[in-house]
Amino acid sequence: MSEMDLTEEVHRMALEAGFTGVGITAPERMRDLPQGWVADVKELLSPEEILPGAKSVVVLLFHAWDRSFFLHIDPPGWKGYSFHSEDEGLEGYYIVYQVTMSKAWSIVSLLREKGHRAVLSTSIPMKSAAVACGLGCHGKSTLLLHPEVGPRLGLMTVVTTALLEVDEPFEGDLCGDCTRCIDACPTGALEPYSVEIMRCMAYASENPGREDIPADVRELERKLIARPTGNSFLECTICMDACPVGRVS
Ligand code: SF4
Ligand code: SF4
Repeated sequence: MSEMDLTEEVHRMALEAGFTGVGITAPERMRDLPQGWVADVKELLSPEEILPGAKSVVVLLFHAWDRSFFLHIDPPGWKGYSFHSEDEGLEGYYIVYQVTMSKAWSIVSLLREKGHRAVLSTSIPMKSAAVACGLGCHGKSTLLLHPEVGPRLGLMTVVTTALLEVDEPFEGDLCGDCTRCIDACPTGALEPYSVEIMRCMAYASENPGREDIPADVRELERKLIARPTGNSFLECTICMDACPVGRVS
């Protein structure tokens, strides 16, 4: 199968699987993107660190139209990423990741059937990769903005040794003079294109055992974050909800 035919097949299968957008970039186009630790949240890796010999990165964008896609189900006794290592076998669930992972397996299977190696990954800088392949721009909220669905989305990537045709980076700015997300954030965590992670309730909720989260942020988190059960919470989406880009109601 030619590079062009396989690229078309990847696009077709991604749309059939229910993704709203699909873009492809190459590892060399990601050289200048942030790697390493980002804001104490996650260790980011390059495509080659995830899969030696990687030649393409497929970025898949899912329209997460309902707040319940942002439900987290923590394992019993969960205190946060700095307290638990993956080796402990604790596993939580974040619904939007579960949905995007299950949908993205069809792309992994296709590439493997064609003789290439392919893996799912959330460890590359996904938002920047999405900008690099034309799916949207960075918003002042630090969320990715897609022209049609705004920041209401989930991302998944497939790193593969298949050589695919790349898409061009997104050009333009969808924020303009708007500052609604910054104005709406109850903890004052946002400045244009930057989030103070220790003041973000999403981070606080993911790390219930951290004692260095400011007391006023913990207090607002207790008041504002919905906890359907003792082990679950709906991530803060206040800045997402405030965004006019792609909002239908
Ligand atoms: S997720 Fe919530 S607390 Fe965090 S920046 Fe957005 S509005 Fe602020
Ligand atoms: S709310 Fe306004 S400033 Fe914030 S990300 Fe959306 S468009 Fe940009």
